Amino acid sequence: MPTEALAVTELPPIVFNRPSLEGAELEYVKASVDGGHMASSGPFSRLAGEALQKETGADEVLLTTSCTAALELSAMLLDLQPGDTVIVPSFTFTTTALAFVRQGARIVFCDIEPHTLGIDTDHLATLLDDKVRAVVPVHYAGIACDVGGLRAALKDRPDVAVIEDNAHGLYGRWNDEPLGSIGRFASLSFHETKNFGCGEGGALLINSQGDVDRARVLYDKGTNRRAFFLGQVDKYSWKDTGASFGLSDTLAAFLWGQLEQHEVIQAKRRAVFERYLNLLTPSSDELGLRLPLIPDYAAPSWHLFYVLMPDRPTRDAVLSGMRTSGVHPAFHYVPLHNSDAGIRFAARSTECPVSADVAGRLLRLPFHNNLSETDSERVVDAFLSAVRDASA
Ligand SMILES: *Cc1c(COP(=O)(O)O)cnc(C)c1O
Repeated sequence: MPTEALAVTELPPIVFNRPSLEGAELEYVKASVDGGHMASSGPFSRLAGEALQKETGADEVLLTTSCTAALELSAMLLDLQPGDTVIVPSFTFTTTALAFVRQGARIVFCDIEPHTLGIDTDHLATLLDDKVRAVVPVHYAGIACDVGGLRAALKDRPDVAVIEDNAHGLYGRWNDEPLGSIGRFASLSFHETKNFGCGEGGALLINSQGDVDRARVLYDKGTNRRAFFLGQVDKYSWKDTGASFGLSDTLAAFLWGQLEQHEVIQAKRRAVFERYLNLLTPSSDELGLRLPLIPDYAAPSWHLFYVLMPDRPTRDAVLSGMRTSGVHPAFHYVPLHNSDAGIRFAARSTECPVSADVAGRLLRLPFHNNLSETDSERVVDAFLSAVRDASA
């Protein structure tokens, strides 16, 4: 017994996430420096942008320093006025809401539906008053939210912009439609924790031609520099509001190395997801576990693997039980609607009971491109034994 216990603790830890090189990233980084163009909008930004455009059909792709920055740029493009509100799910990352708060909007928090953990479109329908300017759905875990319900809820409100926070969903689908092609704008994240990374990075996808020219000006520090380089004007100058949103071309070079390998990366992640699903399904009913559900309409992007535990005490006990065996799971979003800033920046208080319930019961298993079969099995063993200990 003691030797076995020792052997277990001597195994290297299984981290929650690990960024990786999947192709020619470092070669491209060197080429970016050697080529003398390290600032934004260089040759690698063009390659990455074209790949994203090919996948999503966007009218324009602007690579940004983060998904947060892309959401901020979309908020600036809305020209929000005092009193305007934006509807955001409570179960999301803070900047899904914060980007709009920074432009002066107040937030109306919407609940999520229990099976996809995406926006609850029935709740949404009850929140649509005449102050609402935008809705920001998230495709949680890269599983499409109820886009059909979203469109039905907004059928008589063409004035309400949909801005997809697609941080999880690149290469996922709702029916035949690529995630990121559904909103007037969509944001992407290339943070190290996402499927494709360059450390910190993002993109704004612009799906309406009428937004392209102004978006380019705001992106380029309020200048018409892009029009100048496209030969549309003979000098460039200050035209509008804006900020420095552009991703360094050296980071875009790294990103292009990853995007070039997107089929390999997605296949690896799909294998990790399916391995977890196959290993856990046999005991899920007995242990009261709810595993990810994929609606018929959705082709997922395999961003993460979550388990909904029976209750919060079990979830917390399993988190700490797994950590003592050197396996590092994680919880996820703390609901925004009853956070300090959520209360401060809300237009009014709303009830989001599913968000509160799910946030307390959700556990994410370690998930990255190169999580081996042996390590996945070790994760599942550590998980199941922590669940059994917690319910003993
Ligand atoms: C990661 C994430 C963000 C923020 O992305 P950054 O690139 O770190 O700014 C925003 N929204 C969601 C849903 C995310 O998962």
